[in-house]
Amino acid sequence: MNNLFLIPSRISDGGDEAITFAHNGECEMEKDYKTMLGRAYSKLPEDKGSADRFTVPRADVRQVGRRSVIVNFGEIAETLRRDPDHLMKFILNETATRGTLDGGRAVLQGKFNAETIRNIVEIYTNRYVICPVCGRPDTHMVKDRRLTFLQCDACGARSSIGKA
Ligand SMILES: [Zn+2]
Repeated sequence: MNNLFLIPSRISDGGDEAITFAHNGECEMEKDYKTMLGRAYSKLPEDKGSADRFTVPRADVRQVGRRSVIVNFGEIAETLRRDPDHLMKFILNETATRGTLDGGRAVLQGKFNAETIRNIVEIYTNRYVICPVCGRPDTHMVKDRRLTFLQCDACGARSSIGKA
């Protein structure tokens, strides 16, 4: 694929930070995700060895002309263990714009700041990755007829997420 523009190499807005989801072992159907996300923002050191922590890389977004480039898009999709096309489609829907995947980067038409993209990734994570029953991220999506379900590998729950 041709690179139609250049990415400045020096711009950084602190993309090293990460959102950390902490699990507390609760098994309630009604989770207060706002509370959970609030807790998630507390900065914890990265600990890949712990199964109880789920760290989603914070979107590193750079403005290039009239486009916005999510530099670490591939890393985010990989961490979430979701199809990059699915995540991209969701982001494009939420931002109501067009865009393309370019290697590990996502290129959006228009200007979107990092906070906007991070919020969208959070919504996606809560809807398509985090099990609503046990709060763990060890899930995968399964299709059954026209519906899509979130199948949890940790607690076995299968939750409907409607058309995805
Ligand atoms: Zn579960």
